[in-house]
Amino acid sequence: QFDIAGRSGIVTGAASGIGLAYAETLAEAGAKVTLVDIDEEGAEREAERLRGEGAEARAVKADVRNIDEVAAAFDSHVEAYGSCDIAFANAGYDAGEGFWTPEGKRNPKGQIDVYDMERWENSINVNLSGIFRTIREAARVMKQNEANSGRRGGSIIATSSNAAIVNEAIVGLPYMPAKAGVRHLVRHAAFELAAFGIRVNAIAPGPFVTNIGGGWLKKDPAAKKAWDALMPAGSVAETYQIKPLALLLASDAGSYMIGSHVMIDGGMALG
Ligand code: NAD
Repeated sequence: QFDIAGRSGIVTGAASGIGLAYAETLAEAGAKVTLVDIDEEGAEREAERLRGEGAEARAVKADVRNIDEVAAAFDSHVEAYGSCDIAFANAGYDAGEGFWTPEGKRNPKGQIDVYDMERWENSINVNLSGIFRTIREAARVMKQNEANSGRRGGSIIATSSNAAIVNEAIVGLPYMPAKAGVRHLVRHAAFELAAFGIRVNAIAPGPFVTNIGGGWLKKDPAAKKAWDALMPAGSVAETYQIKPLALLLASDAGSYMIGSHVMIDGGMALG
């Protein structure tokens, strides 16, 4: 049931962090993978590394703020691999202009009445509309899968966050409302696309050590230690820890999972 060998998948935001772990999950399971990122060099570097490990992998530059670039990435994937069974709508960022400063003071820039509109609009554009554009194009090509490969439907997995539900004080605007939007977008897409055999689900991570927010969890050992202490699991997560969940949702093992928003946050949302 977990077997996805011979299938193919596309991952946005695949040059780094959680997206890279998704791409590795596909490659390690024998699926062909397109790594999409605004960071062309990074995506190419990682695709080359995966090819060196025996996988079929390719890189495409696309900005998820641009529908034509997202559409072209999906079209080129289908051209290269025949169909698209799996799509991870993952690209996102957190500018770190939250309600609190890391020192626990009110962040003057994070307050509603002075919030910078450009920051707001760009975050919604990437973190919510970027996920929508990716789901939109995934649905378009997946509806053709039966004709293209004989395999009906597919699996779309969006990266949400536990911040879709909790963490008001820590994360703040505009990331939280964007992720809350992703949660509901996934529910709607799952409902609409189920009839086509396309399953849509969300993975909602807690803190993972990646390059998000400038990579502060990587760069600042004191901050990492403080966050480790906050987590019921005892530490923040490393990206390999997302792989089993990614494979579950991508493969037929997750065939009865439709519209789920699966938390993987070391228990953070509990306290
Ligand atoms: P990351 O910075 O390590 O990786 C994000 C990747 O997305 C980068 O390679 C970046 O170049 C790419 N990207 C950014 N904007 C893009 C755009 N407009 N078009 C195409 N690619 C773009 O960060 P990450 O932590 O791996 O983040 C991946 C996803 O996980 C995001 O949706 C993020 O919100 C989510 N998330 C992360 C955490 C965490 O703690 N790391 C927690 C919850 C959710």
